Amino acid sequence: MRMKIALLPGDGIGPEVTREAVRVLRAVGDIYGHNFEFDEKLIGGAAIKQMNAPLPTASLDACLESDAVLLGAVGAPEHDHLPPDKRPEAGLLTLRRALGAYANLRPAISYQAVIDCSPLRAGVVAGADILFVRELLGGLYFGEPRGFIKDNGASAAFNTMRYSTEEIERIARVAFAAALVRRRKVTSVDKANVLETSQLWREVVGRVALDYKEVTLEHLYVDACAMHLVMNPRRFDVVLTENLFGDILSDEAAVITGSLGLLASASVGGEVGLYEPVHGSAPDIAGRGIANPLGAISSAALLLRHTAHLEQEAQDVETAIRTVLDAGYRTPDLDCGQSKYIASTTEMGALVAESIAEVADMRHAYHAV
Ligand code: NAD
Repeated sequence: MRMKIALLPGDGIGPEVTREAVRVLRAVGDIYGHNFEFDEKLIGGAAIKQMNAPLPTASLDACLESDAVLLGAVGAPEHDHLPPDKRPEAGLLTLRRALGAYANLRPAISYQAVIDCSPLRAGVVAGADILFVRELLGGLYFGEPRGFIKDNGASAAFNTMRYSTEEIERIARVAFAAALVRRRKVTSVDKANVLETSQLWREVVGRVALDYKEVTLEHLYVDACAMHLVMNPRRFDVVLTENLFGDILSDEAAVITGSLGLLASASVGGEVGLYEPVHGSAPDIAGRGIANPLGAISSAALLLRHTAHLEQEAQDVETAIRTVLDAGYRTPDLDCGQSKYIASTTEMGALVAESIAEVADMRHAYHAV
């Protein structure tokens, strides 16, 4: 298989973690005979500095001409004073919209090896395996009108939360289809006791559920969901929700996994899939070689699964991550007592890349027996 991947490392730890994701994809290419071609471009603060725009045309064009986009993170404190449409984050929002990637898939899995890194009791998080399906192109992040106004001389600001039936239906279908190949349960999260958009959300999701009789549907208010996520995360299989609620709840899920640095995401549904770790640019640790690259590497595994349709290769990358963690290797964010060896960002990437060959060999040996 030949694939062209647009690479947007971005800001802060973005370049550090994407370098390791690329290392792992190259290892997959070597082992299984695939050709991944990378086209590196600027986004975010790095693009503002060099091109005076958070998403230069050359970067957007490269993404639209690729099979998939692998992104690090955007955001830098030096740009925090800029208006929202000029900030690094605006580049990412424009890219998501241009790609038409409306379905953001965010798996949150509790790995046994790092279970003690969660501030929650091991008995609470053990076995938790949740897929967040977050609507990515609607709601408050994109709703118009929006802006700053003067209200009787005083400053005020406003945003619009808007959802159409079509937007809700297409994301609901993604969630139900995902649940069919998992544990067949969808929890739809809204605030239907207060918001009209949520009332429409609940109605449309209920209608879509009729086409998926094998899947159990439950509705939860977002405040209750936030509590249940940390009280009993195992009760969840697929969590379906709108843009803002999904952003917040999937970060909360970092508590279940033990570190934000482990979480991956895939944004699909458009012409070109976008793959990026859930975390931001982490300016507090950037340039120190201590960022956890496993979220970026897991995002590369999602790229193999959802865009390349290389399920075996995706599973082998995920098994390699588990193998390295089981062997006791940890980046500092995962150092909670039982680490055998504290690995730098590059060491962790190299360990996973090396482990893939062993995982593939063991699978072949198993099938041969
Ligand atoms: P953040 O995710 O960058 O960091 C939150 C905390 O988690 C920090 O203490 C950080 O050190 C730690 N952390 C994050 N990723 C890590 C990793 N891979 N390994 C180890 N530790 C890790 O969130 P923030 O500090 O709120 O935001 C920083 C910047 O990132 C802001 O400019 C924000 O707008 C931006 N941001 C971008 C994205 C994105 O690009 N998708 C997402 C969230 C935030």
